[in-house]
Parts: sequence; C-alpha cells; structure tokens
Amino acid sequence: MTKPRIVHVAIPSVPFFEFFDYLAPNDCTLEQLRAGIRLEVPFGKRTKIAFLMTTSFDSHYALEKLKPILRIIDNASLLSDVDLQLLHWVSHYYHHPIGEVMSAAFPTALRQGKEAVIKKIPALRENAKTSPPIVCNPAQQHAIDHVAATWGQFGVFLLDGVTGSGKTEVYMQLIQTVLDKGQQVLVLVPEITLTPQLQARFESRFNTFIAISHSKLTDMQRKNAWLLMQSGACSLLLGTRSALFTPMPRLGLIILDEEHDSSFKQQEGFRFSARDVAIMRGKFAQTPVLLGSATPSLESLYNIRQARYHHLPLPERAGSALPPIVEIIDIRQQKLNEGLSPILLNEMRLTLNKDEQVLLFLNRRGFAPTLICNDCGWVARCVHCDANLVIHRHKSLLRCHHCGTEHRLIQTCPACQTHNLVSVGLGTERIESVLGTLFADKTVIRLDRDSTSHKGALERYLTQIHAGDAHIILGTQLLAKGHHFPNVTLVAILDVDSGLFSTDFHSGEKLAQLIVQVSGRAGREQKQGKVILQTRQPEHPLLVELLRDGYSKFAALALQERERAKLPPFSYQALLRAHSASEVLPENFLQSVAALAKTLNASNVQILGPIPAPMARRAGQYRYQLLFQHDNRNGLHHLLRQLVPKISGLNGGQKVRWSIDVDPVDLY
Ligand code: ADP
Ligand code: ZN
Ligand code: ZN
Repeated sequence: MTKPRIVHVAIPSVPFFEFFDYLAPNDCTLEQLRAGIRLEVPFGKRTKIAFLMTTSFDSHYALEKLKPILRIIDNASLLSDVDLQLLHWVSHYYHHPIGEVMSAAFPTALRQGKEAVIKKIPALRENAKTSPPIVCNPAQQHAIDHVAATWGQFGVFLLDGVTGSGKTEVYMQLIQTVLDKGQQVLVLVPEITLTPQLQARFESRFNTFIAISHSKLTDMQRKNAWLLMQSGACSLLLGTRSALFTPMPRLGLIILDEEHDSSFKQQEGFRFSARDVAIMRGKFAQTPVLLGSATPSLESLYNIRQARYHHLPLPERAGSALPPIVEIIDIRQQKLNEGLSPILLNEMRLTLNKDEQVLLFLNRRGFAPTLICNDCGWVARCVHCDANLVIHRHKSLLRCHHCGTEHRLIQTCPACQTHNLVSVGLGTERIESVLGTLFADKTVIRLDRDSTSHKGALERYLTQIHAGDAHIILGTQLLAKGHHFPNVTLVAILDVDSGLFSTDFHSGEKLAQLIVQVSGRAGREQKQGKVILQTRQPEHPLLVELLRDGYSKFAALALQERERAKLPPFSYQALLRAHSASEVLPENFLQSVAALAKTLNASNVQILGPIPAPMARRAGQYRYQLLFQHDNRNGLHHLLRQLVPKISGLNGGQKVRWSIDVDPVDLY
C-alpha cells in the first residue's frame, strides 16, 4: 500500500505558528498540489479556505486523525517561488503566524475562495496625449544612470532630495525604461491620499494601464488589481502598504516614496514595515529598490553610512523654484487670537492680497482637546481610557479619539452644576471658526479626518484647492505629506511645541521631518515661499539646529545621540505588548515572559519592563509592555525564536491579548 500524501497548509485568521495537515486526494498528481494554490478544508464544524505551503509523507499528527481536503480551488499556483520565499521570510522575521501573513498577501475576495479570474482586462491605452519627459538636471541624470546600471540585480538606492527637487521625474524616467523592457514596476506611497495625484502624473506620462491598490477600494477592485499584476496583464502598480505583496512575475523595479513615513509600518496585527519588506522583496527578486524622501529616516541614513544603500542626493529644487524662507515666531507674551499671532495674521493678509494661498498646519482635530469647569476644575475624561474627551462643536459632541466613545456636548458641569465650562486648547475646528470671522470674504478649507470622512470628500477639496477656489487651507497630518499645491506661498505650523515633549525616542526625528515636510509645501513653483513656526520654545536645540543647519546635519547629530544611547539603528528592539480588562493580568503575564526569557540563556539581551504603556488604559483595557533590546539582530531573533512559541502556554497567556512588534517605530 502506498503512503498517503500529506498537504501542509496555512489557514488565514488562525493564529497558529505551525502548518495544518490534511490528506491529499488519492487521484491527484503532484503537479496539482503546487505551493500557493488554494484549497477548501474542513475545520472544526465549518470549512475554511487554506493555502497549500508544501506536501510530504509525514505528519506530526496521527494519520487516522487527518481529514482529507474537500476541494482544490486553483489549477495553478497564484504565487511564484519568490513570492513564497518572501512570505516565509516575513513570517519568520516578524514572528507572525504564516496564515496571517498569507492573509495580508491576498485580497479578501480570493481569501474567501472566489474564482481567480479577471472581470475585465483593461484595453491597453492608446493615449496620444501623454507628455514627454523633462530634460533632467545633472543630479537627476546621475541618479537615473546609477539605478539603471543595476537592472536585474539587487541594490538599494536612496533618492535624497528636498521637496520639489524632481524626485518624481526621476521615478517616471526609470519606470519608463522598465516598461520599455516589458517588465513590471511596483510603486508604494505611505497614504491613500497621495495616490490620486501620482496616478494623474503617471497617466499623463505613460501609455499603459495603471493598477491601483489600497484599502479604500472595494473587494472586487482590489482583486482585479491583484490579478492584473499577478497574471502579468498589467505592468504598473501604484498602491499603499497593503499592495506590497501583490505577485508580479516580471518585477523589474520597486519604488517607495516618502520612505521615512511611519505609515509604512503597520501598527496593528501583523506589524510589518513595508519599507523593510520591500527591500527583502527586491533582494529575493533581484531587482533594484529605490527609496525617496526629502527627510530620510535615520535608519536609511545609517545604512548609507554603512555602505549598504547607495546615496543619490538631489540637492536643489528643480526648475526655478527657490527654497522657502523659514521664520521662528516666539509667541510667549504675545496676544494670540485663538492661537494665531499678530505677525502671522499680518503675513496671511499680505499673502491673500497677492492672490496666493495660505496653508495652516495644526495636528489636532476637533474644536478643543479639553473641556474644563472654571468653577470646580472638573475635566471631561473618557471613562474607558486615560484620556480627555475632545470637544467637537459642529456635531455638538464630546468624543474620545482613542476608543470612539461619544457623549452629547454639555453646558452644565456634572460635578458642581454651574455653567462655567470652558474649552481649553486648539483644534482645527476652532481655528476654522476664527478664520471665518477674521477673513470673512475668503474661502477656508479644513482638511482632517472629520472633514474628509465621506467618500470622495478629500478629492473634491483637493480639486477645489488646485482650481484656486480656496484661499486658506487648514489641516492636520493629511496636509503634511507629498501634496503639491503650486499657489501656496505661506505655510505656518501653529503649534510646534506639542511635538517637542514626547517620551518616545523617535519623536525628535518625527518632528524634524514634519517641519521640513510641511515647509516643503511653500512656494513650489515660481513664487518664493515663506514658512512660519509658532513656538514658546524658540531656543529648543532641535529647532535651532534644524533651522540653522538643515535636515541632513540635524539627522547626523540625531544619529550621534542614538549611538551614544545605544538606541536603534545601533541596537535592535522588539516590543511585546499585552492588554486585558484586568488590571493585574497583563503585568503578571509579562513578568512571566521576562522570567522565561531570562532562562533561555539569552546573553546580552536587555529586557526592559514590564512597564505600563504610555496610555496605560485604553478602551477599557489595561496595557503593559516589555521591551527586548540587543546589539545584534541575530541575537535578538535567536531569543524571540525560542521565546515566542512558548508564550501562549504561559500562565495567563490565554487570558491576555498579546502581540509582538519587531523593530517598533512607536513605543506606544
Ligand atoms: P519632488 O517629487 O522631488 O517633489 P517633482 O518631480 O514633483 O519633485 O518636481 C517638482 C517640479 O519641478 C515639477 O513641476 C516638475 O515637473 C519640475 N521638474 C522636475 N525636474 C525638472 C527639471 N530637470 N527641469 C525643470 N523642471 C523640473
Ligand atoms: Zn464644576
Ligand atoms: Zn476612550
């Protein structure tokens, strides 16, 4: 009797580190059982869609316990060997169950077992309207030539150019070359909001269909984009983090714009860094990887220093655009009108009189962050979180930005019954209302998560701004990234200080990037731009260094500090987070993890904690964390490799929710 063949599968949404084993049907050939096909398998009382990873004649389980698979869904593998290699690597590196990693790699529709056929293959565009490439300046040409010298090989390049230095032009010329060779290109951006403008620029340049992939598309749209790339029918994919794993059989180039942006790191569940995984993908697929930024991450600058990445600087703005003038305004002892200083108001008037646009940045949505009683000192707090409720005046709500709890906005203090409740602090809604009074004849557009929550709202606002139908643009984070507003000549950061006092060692780097990025929105074309930073800390070293010496000097100093403190990239970290509705369980659990880790003869691993998370209670959950740090990446992973599989078995391991974050970018 022949031994039955066993298939080893990964099952999405089942947090299990090992494969599940099933019996292959007797009548199927090895050819039909390729890694990367989908199967339907029995699972408990239900059935599930599984991914075939490998086959063999052995199982850890007793043969008679194994169930046969129910159905083979695909007659050819949906993934190449390189794709599978990458997914295995990712599961291993992030210590994340392979089933969950496979989930991230497939659009929902395919995960549900829908047929892998493309609804409609788009016609190849015959666009006579495409615009020709620009004649590059020497720095751009040098960058292009350098990347082009490595076709068919792995290499990482950092295009380090100030905003408006022509990075996108470099991308487009390289993309054209790859398309001409009949190969495929993957372009990743950190935010969905950045896709429309890049898509528009690509459409006006390339005579090819552009597949778009991000999390706001419908299942069908994502499935279609995925299959268009996977089948090779389409050559150019533009997307966000979630597009990273899309199979591309003729991949020739990976571009990752705004590489410093922490949105490339997934912050929940499978916490991968799209930048780092993109680099591994380039390595496995033997293609160049081009990273671009005006404010490169300290990690990437360190990798240049270590000669792991190639540095391609674009030191000047392309065309005739001049760098903006940056001014610090000390707002201590100034009479502010809802956060706006007289100097700023004056500059705004001058700019608006010239028919130019003003952009105001404030990274806080809502009307005000705190509601306080002037009589008794009562503060509106969230009952589920260690946080204040934020006042949303338009909707007449008090809302928690951490758990979503909402209450009606009150007029009477619940503690002393007086009517002396005051709104303290500034949010975008509040600035919007004062602008409406001070600049009554001007159009103000507010761009934040609240004003753009309706589908299509952001696109409408962006169109309005570009058409010149907006005078003052006010917004949060959303504004800071990559947007190109040619007629904006004055940019102000209303409250620089909120970024200066954070306990996370990444915060200095992030604030410097934010200041430079927001400033980069000023004067992108012929007109000279001006940037105003309002602060009560005009002597803060971060601001002084950044403005005196520029971002790259600032970054060099910040790297020195990291080196002295032995922080990443001079060491490697992993953060184990645990939470539960019980106050004691997460801490006890992490204590057991720490004790276990110490028995695993992990020499030189520093184990810090457990300590409460910076927000110790959120959405009713008590949160603790344990940090592992090591001078050597392999040393850290060696410990995690032994530790992680044992964690679930620990006392309390089933009662708390825990997750592991390799290379955390946010210690929250
Ligand atoms: P970035 O991506 O670095 O912000 P872009 O590629 O968008 O820069 O270029 C900024 C502006 O300069 C665009 O309007 C672009 O068309 C123009 N530009 C780019 N390269 C050149 C060049 N070599 N000569 C003239 N203009 C250029
Ligand atoms: Zn009161
Ligand atoms: Zn809350």
